[in-house]
Amino acid sequence: MNLNIDNYIDFYENDIKGRYITNSKILQLLNKYNPKVAGYSVQNNPIYSLSIGTGPIKILIWSQMHGNESTSTKAIFDCLSYLHKIDNTLLSSLKLKIVPILNPDGANAYSRENYNNIDLNRDSVNLSQPESILLRELYNDFKPDFCFNMHDQRTIYSLDNNKSSIISFLAPSADTEKTETEARTKSMSVISYVYTKMNKIIPGNIGRYNDDFNINCVGDSFQSFNTPTILFESGHISQDYQREISRKFVCFSLIYALEFISQNNFSFYKEYYKIPENKTQLCDIKISNIKQKESNKHKITDLSIIYFESLNSSKEIIEFIPEIKEYGNLLNMSGHIEVDFSSINETFDLNNSNIISEIIYHVNKLRNIH
Ligand SMILES: [Zn+2]
Repeated sequence: MNLNIDNYIDFYENDIKGRYITNSKILQLLNKYNPKVAGYSVQNNPIYSLSIGTGPIKILIWSQMHGNESTSTKAIFDCLSYLHKIDNTLLSSLKLKIVPILNPDGANAYSRENYNNIDLNRDSVNLSQPESILLRELYNDFKPDFCFNMHDQRTIYSLDNNKSSIISFLAPSADTEKTETEARTKSMSVISYVYTKMNKIIPGNIGRYNDDFNINCVGDSFQSFNTPTILFESGHISQDYQREISRKFVCFSLIYALEFISQNNFSFYKEYYKIPENKTQLCDIKISNIKQKESNKHKITDLSIIYFESLNSSKEIIEFIPEIKEYGNLLNMSGHIEVDFSSINETFDLNNSNIISEIIYHVNKLRNIH
């Protein structure tokens, strides 16, 4: 299949944008697809599900089990638009059950955890939360042939040559020995295909996650129940903090995955092991040659800055607050922005947390942003 990227604008969902994606932000889009209330969150917010397609191969897809990981929710609606507007043949071979926001309380609060501060992706054995119980009930009732577990990864994830990891995948292990079970090799096969396709579009920007087994993670549990499960992680590129670019690549990955599964041939999977593993050698801003104040002298060092993501409730937007992560010899680190402070004569007390605004002032000045 050759997906024409130029046509993305034809199925891109213009009504959903940015990082702060909640039930109320998706309601209009949901209503295009006859949503059902599948259950309720701790705070009694509805958890919606969509049933799409009439085919024999069943795929359960959920996003925002971590409330602040919204990129794949946007990508799912783009993908649904593709399936309805561009290519509806897939809907006769597949039956999709989609939960766009599994953790609506976390989505409202822009938190990873649910309202009880539980990470739902560590609750697969305890099933202590209504959201975890609901997902398990959907799984038991629907009996999927595949599961897609959709997440976002932080800006720190890097690949070879410190290129950004724009999307990542994992075929979770089904046991501590990381056995290539039938279900797991099917997951690997789907990922191999998607990787081969996507690596032509964003070469060197696709990563693979560590496959240590953790039965508390939902993907590992479902894989251990012999249901092929794939973890999708939307990542970061350049200054796209609204993740409108990676959203497109996740959408394409989803469509490729659906196309491949509909063809029902999972013999090829070894390419999976060629996908580079994610490292964490990126920061949001890297500053080199900054003069660090040390009593009455100074020393020249490197500094990394990471944005803390903070919800501005009244504006309903996410703000990116710069914080110092570390300083010292950061030769192996890269930044999504890199700035050389050699020309700045000022010395900075890096132990003073208020110094960050002064540093950002110089960063902006050097980058000609006023
Ligand atoms: Zn996550």
